[in-house]
Order: sequence, then C-alpha cells, then structure tokens
Amino acid sequence: MEPQHLTLSTLASMEDYDPNSMPVEQARQLIKQFLSPVTEYETIKIQDAFHRTLSADVLSPMSVPPHNYSSMDGYAVRHADLHGTSNKLKKIGSSFAGHGFDGSVAAGECVRIMTGALIPDGCDSVVMQEQAKVDGDIIEIGSGHKRGQNIRLVGEDIEQGAVVLARGQIIRPAEMGLLASLGFNEVSVYRKLKIAIFSTGDELIQPGMALSAGQIYDSNRYTLVGLLTELGVEIIDMGNIRDDKDAVRAALLKASSSADVIITSGGVSVGDADYIKELLDELGEVVFWKLAMKPGRPLAYGKVGSCHFFGLPGNPVAVMVTFLQFVRNALWELMGQHPKPVFSFQAICTTPIKKAAGRTEFQRGILTQGEDGIWMVKTTGEQGSGILSSMSRANCFIVLPLEQGNVEKGSVVHIQLF
Ligand code: AMP
Ligand code: MG
Repeated sequence: MEPQHLTLSTLASMEDYDPNSMPVEQARQLIKQFLSPVTEYETIKIQDAFHRTLSADVLSPMSVPPHNYSSMDGYAVRHADLHGTSNKLKKIGSSFAGHGFDGSVAAGECVRIMTGALIPDGCDSVVMQEQAKVDGDIIEIGSGHKRGQNIRLVGEDIEQGAVVLARGQIIRPAEMGLLASLGFNEVSVYRKLKIAIFSTGDELIQPGMALSAGQIYDSNRYTLVGLLTELGVEIIDMGNIRDDKDAVRAALLKASSSADVIITSGGVSVGDADYIKELLDELGEVVFWKLAMKPGRPLAYGKVGSCHFFGLPGNPVAVMVTFLQFVRNALWELMGQHPKPVFSFQAICTTPIKKAAGRTEFQRGILTQGEDGIWMVKTTGEQGSGILSSMSRANCFIVLPLEQGNVEKGSVVHIQLF
C-alpha cells in the first residue's frame, strides 16, 4: 500500500488500535505509514553539505588510489632481483610523494621511495628501509620478500564507477572528506525539511523578561531548536501562541501553508484550554493523542492539510523524550534517510525503580563502566516530567518495557545512549 493513500479510516479497519492509549511500538509503526520523503533536490557545495541527505547514488569518477603507490619509506625493486640471501642493487634515483621517478627501472636497479610516492615503471615491490643496508648507491637487501609487498594498488580502495555512497546517506564529516577525495566540489542533496514550531500556554513568557506570579519561562521552544538544529532542518519559529482556539487555529493554518511538519508543545492534555485535538479534527486528522508511555502520555500525531503534525506534551522532559522516541526518526525518514531502530544495550541497574505494568517508561539514567568493564546504570533520581535538569544530567534512557513491573536493584535493564 502506498503511504500517501493511507487514511485514518483504512488504518482503523486495518488494525485494531486504541488511539487513547497506544503502545509505543504501534505508534512508531503507524507514524511510519504516513511518511513519504521529500523528492525535491538541489546541488550544493561540499562544505555546506553537513547533515544533508544524498538525493542520488554517488559513483566514483576514478579509481582510488588512482595509481600504484608505496605504503612505506624504502626502496622500490623488481622482485625477480631478490633471489639470493644477499642481493646488491644499484640505486638510480628517487620517487617522492608528488614527484615521481621519471624513467624505468631495469634488472639489478632500484629507486629510493617514500610513502605515498608513485611506484616507478619496472618495479613491483617495496622493501622497507629498515630491511636494507646502504653503501653509497649500492643497496643490499636480504631474502624473504613477497612480490607486491608494501604497495597500495590502483583501485584497491574504490573501483572507478563503483557506488561509494548511496542515496539516502546522511552527510557527516567522513562523507564530506570522502566526496572531496574523489574530486567532487558539489553534491546533490534533498532540499531541507521545513519545520514550524510553536509553544502554547498563557503562562509562558520569554527568557530575558521578569517573571510574574503564575508565569514560567518558555523552555520547550529552545529545547526544540537544539534538537532540530542537530538534524540540519530549516526551523520556522512561530513563538508562543495564546491558549485561545482561534489563535491556535490561525497558527496551525499559517504553519501548514509553508512547513512540511508542525511541532508544538503543550495543550494536548485534556485541560479546558487544550484545543489542539479539537482543531486537528477540524483541520485535518488525528491518528492518536495518547500513548501508553511515561513521560509523554499526551502525544498527538496527525495531519493539518498535507502537513505532518506532532503535538508534544507541555512538560519539558516529555518534550525531549517524545521527540527522541518518535519525531526524530520520522523527520529522518521525511528527509530521505533510512533511519535504523535506536541502538540499545543492556546494563545492570544499581537503583531499584518503581514501575507499573501497562506502559513503556523512559527513565533518565547515568551510565558508568565499572573496573571490570561491566556497564552500570542508575537513575537521575526524581523522575518528574517537569525536571529538565534530569535530562541535562543523564547520558541515557533506561527503557522499561510495557509489561515490566518494579525493577529490583541489580537487575538487567535496557538502555539507549543519548
Ligand atoms: P500542558 O500540556 O499545556 O497542560 O502543559 C503541561 C505542563 O507543561 C504545564 O505545567 C505547563 O506550564 C508546562 N509547559 C507547557 N509549555 C511549556 C513550555 N513551552 N516551556 C516550559 N514548560 C511548559
Ligand atoms: Mg498548556
């Protein structure tokens, strides 16, 4: 089934799910079915390509290395000359990196060679300088050398025409260098994803202003800017929107006219001022709005027109957890990448954890390695979803699955590194 043809009604008949308490894994699968990657692409300079996504396979325009090079400092020789236990060869010149030896090497001759220098015509092996005795121009070499030794052969790394990087590859420092090493100064990438963000809440004011009673600083938008900057998307920051249905409707419509994805925080729980779900029903569709997880139970996903909508909870920790568990992978997919499931591994939990079965929990953990090399994790302490400092102190999530109950000290838990 084509993702773009999926509608809520087909999903509802396809799967028996409860949008009021959806398990984490099911929510991930559901979101995935709605995602179709951007198709527009552009050509940009390699130095501007950090964190962009390749829109086409990159074929190598040349062999790497392009010629045969020495991988050692020593002497380029003809292997056939090294038949005895002591072989005296005449040095007829030198080959340096960037300045090869012009001419060809005949039987009984050799050439002084440096690492990265071209192998001269006639030679087929390099003997390390430590294995040669020098007496003026006479170089004495013993036995036991292999034909072809200490040579980086043409095409050994990459053959001309081979796919070096596949479409969908994220461009990191290694890819920037690799592209440059093949002579590319430009690369074709998908256009940047446009993400509109806004906070909701009458209690929010901007950092830098004085707090009055009942107010709090809008921190979620700054967390989101950080999280999104790491992904290399274009951010459309729409500020904070009042808890007013018409204001939120206007913001959603404005955002959907220019962005691929809208991410908001707050207003998705069932408080009186929580219009987001109602508005989604009106302007598009809601796929789910409550997950069987903690923190992050009120997480809405749906569409506003053709725009994806993620309504993150208001609580600052829940914003990060839901972003990292759902939104980031969805954005990677929309950017044209092929995200892998989050890598997790096991550690011994050194603190007992209280946990009710029936929801997945993402506790903030501090992972350390014992002297014996064993990984150990403890929680950051109080796990309230408003305690943002816990995210700053933590270096991992302790992931407690749906059916898990209390965790005893010393038991094995799964962790996801940040
Ligand atoms: P809500 O989901 O709108 O009821 O918000 C849940 C909690 O998160 C409330 O205590 C809000 O004050 C808080 N909150 C909502 N938005 C933000 C924000 N942008 N920055 C910090 N805290 C927020
Ligand atoms: Mg609110």
